[in-house]
Amino acid sequence: MTRSATNGGRQRVWLAFAGIISGIGIWGTHYTAMLGYSPGLPTRFDTGMASLSIAATIVLSTAGWTFATSYRSDRWGGEAALGGLLVGLGLVAAHYIDMLGMSVAGHIYFDFDLVAKSVGAGLTLCVLAGWLVYGQRMKRYPVLASIALSLGILSLHFIGMAAIRILPDPTIIVTGSALGIEQLGGVVVTIAVAILSVGFAVAVYDRRLSGQSRLGAERLATSSAALRAIEEHYRFSIDANTQVPWVADATGAMIEIGPLAEVLTDMPIRALMGNGWRACVHDDDAPGLAANSPFEWREGAVIDSRYRIRQRNGKFRWFRSRGSARRSLDDGRLLWYGTLEDIDDQVRASAALSLSEQRYRLALQATDEAIWDWRHDTDWIDWSEAVGSQLGYLQAQAGTPLSWWSERLHPDDRTRVVQELDTALADGSTRWGSEFRFRKADDTYADVYSRGQIVRDDDGLPVRTVGAMLDISERKHVENNLRWTATHDALTGLPTRSLFSEQLAEALTVGGDTDERVGLILLDVDDFKMVNDTLGYAVGDASLRLLGDRLVKLVPASAIVGRLGGDEFGVILPGISAGEAWLASIAQMLAELNAPFVLDGQPINIKASIGGAVWPLDGATAEELLKSAAIALNSAKSEDRAAIRTFNGDMRVMIETQAAMLTQARAALENDRIVPYYQPKIDLATGAIAGFEALLRWNHQAYGLQPPSGIAAAFEDMSLAARLTDRMIDCVARDMHNWLAAGVNFHKIAVNGSAVDFLRGDFSDRLLGALHKADVPPSLLEIEVTESVFVGRLAKHVERTLNALSEAGVTIALDDFGTGYASLSHLRQFPVDVLKIDKSFVHKAAHISDDDIAIVRAVVGLAKTLKITTVAEGVETMEQAVQLRAVGCDLAQGYLFNRAVTAAKVAGLLDAPRFVVDREACQVLC
Ligand code: C2E
Ligand code: CA
Ligand code: CA
Repeated sequence: MTRSATNGGRQRVWLAFAGIISGIGIWGTHYTAMLGYSPGLPTRFDTGMASLSIAATIVLSTAGWTFATSYRSDRWGGEAALGGLLVGLGLVAAHYIDMLGMSVAGHIYFDFDLVAKSVGAGLTLCVLAGWLVYGQRMKRYPVLASIALSLGILSLHFIGMAAIRILPDPTIIVTGSALGIEQLGGVVVTIAVAILSVGFAVAVYDRRLSGQSRLGAERLATSSAALRAIEEHYRFSIDANTQVPWVADATGAMIEIGPLAEVLTDMPIRALMGNGWRACVHDDDAPGLAANSPFEWREGAVIDSRYRIRQRNGKFRWFRSRGSARRSLDDGRLLWYGTLEDIDDQVRASAALSLSEQRYRLALQATDEAIWDWRHDTDWIDWSEAVGSQLGYLQAQAGTPLSWWSERLHPDDRTRVVQELDTALADGSTRWGSEFRFRKADDTYADVYSRGQIVRDDDGLPVRTVGAMLDISERKHVENNLRWTATHDALTGLPTRSLFSEQLAEALTVGGDTDERVGLILLDVDDFKMVNDTLGYAVGDASLRLLGDRLVKLVPASAIVGRLGGDEFGVILPGISAGEAWLASIAQMLAELNAPFVLDGQPINIKASIGGAVWPLDGATAEELLKSAAIALNSAKSEDRAAIRTFNGDMRVMIETQAAMLTQARAALENDRIVPYYQPKIDLATGAIAGFEALLRWNHQAYGLQPPSGIAAAFEDMSLAARLTDRMIDCVARDMHNWLAAGVNFHKIAVNGSAVDFLRGDFSDRLLGALHKADVPPSLLEIEVTESVFVGRLAKHVERTLNALSEAGVTIALDDFGTGYASLSHLRQFPVDVLKIDKSFVHKAAHISDDDIAIVRAVVGLAKTLKITTVAEGVETMEQAVQLRAVGCDLAQGYLFNRAVTAAKVAGLLDAPRFVVDREACQVLC
């Protein structure tokens, strides 16, 4: 038997005794009072009615006390007062039933006003008594309660008796089974004995119950110490617990709640007491709570509800309240004992989780990817629906073994894919991804991309891999098309230069693996421009297409044909034989290729030339091999039409020389061994110096000062040419600055520009900037450019740059005039100030030939009309100088006057006497 059940039973017994005792007591008090009431007439009491009154009193007072102690739903003690009222009613019943059972020799009249007062006073005082004992939660006032109860009994009785008037009537004979006044004493004595007996019985009963504990007094002492320890332990765990204990009455009204509630709910405890907590519950959750109420009125009932409670800041948090109905230890009332727990984080986390689960489910449905989940312990794969919708395997949605998947890999991809996967699993990777072909249900292959996340256990071993497989066939198709278009020529359908270079590199790798030579030939149509010009672009295009087709048919199947530029084709010939045989085979091919063909009924006779190179002899890399073949092609084209040249030793020497030049130029730049030398230009009319040309000289670490020819290739190299020009300009600007400062009148300094300079967008800025920095006016500088820059792709850049320089005051000289392809129209298009007639017209012999001087005369004449100054270069003899002056040439430059000198010697030259240009005088000073 549990302790609380023992207490509960004991309490019920006590209540019953209390009811009986107070019932008898009330009745006894009443009858004692009756003794004192003597109307002076024969009076008897009916025993039946007396029994009824005592029974009614006992029942009502027992009910009253029970009621008063069992319920505690509200803090104002309403039930306690009601219990008191029941006891009072017992009192009223005792008095008035007895009055009804009273027989007297006379007529009884009631003063109803006093009756009402007696009942009212009695009941009120009983209510007060009930309330004083049980109505207060914390305090009880048993003494005050008994006073109130006694006063209630007395006022009911005495006011009640005063309400009676008896008119004696001797005719009335009082008889029957009733007690006379004289018998009342005996009755009361009996009652007193009864009270004592009952009290004694109760005492004995109670003693028996508590005696059980007393028997084991020592045991109790030990147990209570243990109990205290347990209690302490319990309190600690309560303190540590985030659950708040609470006690509520049967209706759910909060009676007690742990102080932690204030922290958890952020509401003051008093706001939660009684039904206050209900007001804080979220409206949406209130109906759920209503289902729990009215609380079931039985022991052991449980409640478990979740609801949101409003915080002080107006926000809600989730709580879980669990409780069960138990009888109270102290008064046996049925109460709810429970705990309140903050489950907000939990609820929100699970809401977020279910949201993300839902999102995941939707995403699975929305995606075209077949999501897979492979458990490594069972080698089982679970697939998402897309394995059916995308790949056609409806059954696979139920899951497949791993082997099902690997069997469907394309045989050509299987080894690679499985190996990639194994590597990823073995090397600790967390990701794997691979592109491969996968067999669909309809037996066709889809290009798929599959990637997965590898989940590993604490030892790093893969336990699960989850990923997605996407059908990328469509994308692949588009990509392939795009790549094809980007890498193939639209006209002939042949690979373009970039793809061709890649294919060449691949072919060389294969050649390396198989130890075979790779041949490369470049073809260029001779005079193709003429075909375009004479027959039109449509015919030109058609001929190129025909040529391409023919080439593809002529070369072996293993060869790769590409279109590298306008009229240039390339052929890669893997596995060629050495020496003469290879040359013979391409000669044969070229002969067939150059056979005339008919286009739209029109015979077309176009011929191509070939340059060939062999790997690895003529170049180690694709780039080198292409360069060698291009050199061979150039050499072929310079000789004849439809010629074949293969790369040879001389060409190699040339290439090596060029490479050495670049190395030297780089070293000279890096070691600051570039110096400008200045060669004067002489005014043929006066013999005075009219300016200088700055010529590059560089110091070789072993051979000393060198002419620019030793690094000539650098003037054509993209980066070196610009660096050389910049260095020259900086040096020249510095020298000019010094001369200006020293008062040396150098007139004008010309600097040579190279074609590459015009490819840079910043050439004019760079040049003008250097002058500005040296504080030299731009009008003191001249820039010499060769005719080659005027033709071809560069023309637009050249025009813009020259105009910018010209506007800034820099004069422009056209160098080496007569050697290139420049037409005279260029003189109008570009801002040319000076024409430098190439030395090839002048210095071949001591006397300029009639033909040459005629050309010079024509040029000079033309220049004059255009207001362009003419300079003759390479003047070595006085005769040449006299001839040039005779045809009106303005200036002359050459060894006759001076070689180029250092900056330090420039002032001396200017101070020296003027030249006399005169056939007889011949260098005689004036
Ligand atoms: P260029 O611009 O035609 O320069 C004139 C060349 O003729 C110079 O050769 C000069 O020394 C040479 N020369 C002068 N008088 C005579 C003569 O009476 N007879 C003969 N046979 N030659 C004479 P250099 O200095 O060797 O320069 C050669 C070429 O190098 C220059 O030809 C020019 O094209 C280029 N060059 C020189 N310096 C530079 C430079 O700073 N930048 C660029 N881009 N090219 C330069
Ligand atoms: Ca020059
Ligand atoms: Ca020149």
